Amino acid sequence: MAYRNTKQRKDVYEVLKGLNKHLTADQVMDALTESNKKVGLATVYRSLNHLYEHQKIGRIVTHGVTLYDGNPEPHDHLHCKICDKFFDVPRINNKESLNRIQEETGYSIDEYFITYEGICTNCKEK
Ligand SMILES: [Zn+2]
Ligand SMILES: [Zn+2]
Repeated sequence: MAYRNTKQRKDVYEVLKGLNKHLTADQVMDALTESNKKVGLATVYRSLNHLYEHQKIGRIVTHGVTLYDGNPEPHDHLHCKICDKFFDVPRINNKESLNRIQEETGYSIDEYFITYEGICTNCKEK
């Protein structure tokens, strides 16, 4: 059983390691099903959580939807409003504004996501 779990986790990981992959758990499961790897949604979630906790993958929460990210490094995103793809961009260090927000609101911020909305170069050409 332990071996199976490890194998499934590896399959889940490989789906996300493609270029610029930002997928929901459902989309990860669909991708596995397409390549004839039958994994239940509960196992997909367990694998994703495990990978995230061990910093092998990242995640973004946008519009209430969690997308799992093959890139575990801290970074921000460009989102294309037409093709709905996410592209990685380096995170601009804004520790100062984070501190200010925490001071002004009393919140303890432990996670945040910055997504720049717009239209990608591919879609602009069309
Ligand atoms: Zn686009
Ligand atoms: Zn990303």
